[in-house]
Amino acid sequence: MSTPANNQISVKLVLLGEAAVGKSSLVLRFVSNDFEENKEPTIGAAFLTQRCTIGDKNIKFEIWDTAGQERFANLTPLYYRNAQAALVVYDITKPASFIKARHWVKELHEQAAKNIIIALVGNKYDLTLDSESGEEIEGARKVSRDEGQDLANEENLLFFETSAKTAFSVNDVFTTIGEKIPDAV
Ligand code: GDP
Repeated sequence: MSTPANNQISVKLVLLGEAAVGKSSLVLRFVSNDFEENKEPTIGAAFLTQRCTIGDKNIKFEIWDTAGQERFANLTPLYYRNAQAALVVYDITKPASFIKARHWVKELHEQAAKNIIIALVGNKYDLTLDSESGEEIEGARKVSRDEGQDLANEENLLFFETSAKTAFSVNDVFTTIGEKIPDAV
């Protein structure tokens, strides 16, 4: 079966989640394979693109980060209108950020395009592991994997636990979304 060589697809992808859960860091890891320990909040430049080939698709991710607006104002639905994909990010060591993630999922289901692909992303996985032994640090994790998976199952979301710091599973998030994006017609 032949496929058109120019199966070029642009995907508008937005990030949502409480301040400091690691949204910008996930983007930095995906786009530049980099991490900053004490990252200043993103103010201003919040649009980045990244091309990648997934199967026979050439995908251009157009990534919209919130530019820190979630700190002081409600994001308007304009931000995620026309988005084909969204990452709803929480910090697995911060229960309040998981509650906020539920809120964003609900909001997206109410306001965003019906066929939007949503990935629920529990970030900062590295903080739950001992860096020497790799074993779980008791009590470090505050949102269980099951809680994340249950929400994802209930709301029909992709689900990942990631670390922008170690790069754990970050590429999987974007690759899986890319696989789910319909072919160009
Ligand atoms: P945002 O406000 O959601 O965009 O969050 P940032 O990307 O600015 O990250 C907030 C802080 O958390 C920064 O100090 C980051 O270095 C840190 N951070 C982000 N992701 C991770 C991670 O996976 N692990 C750890 N340990 N720290 C992280």
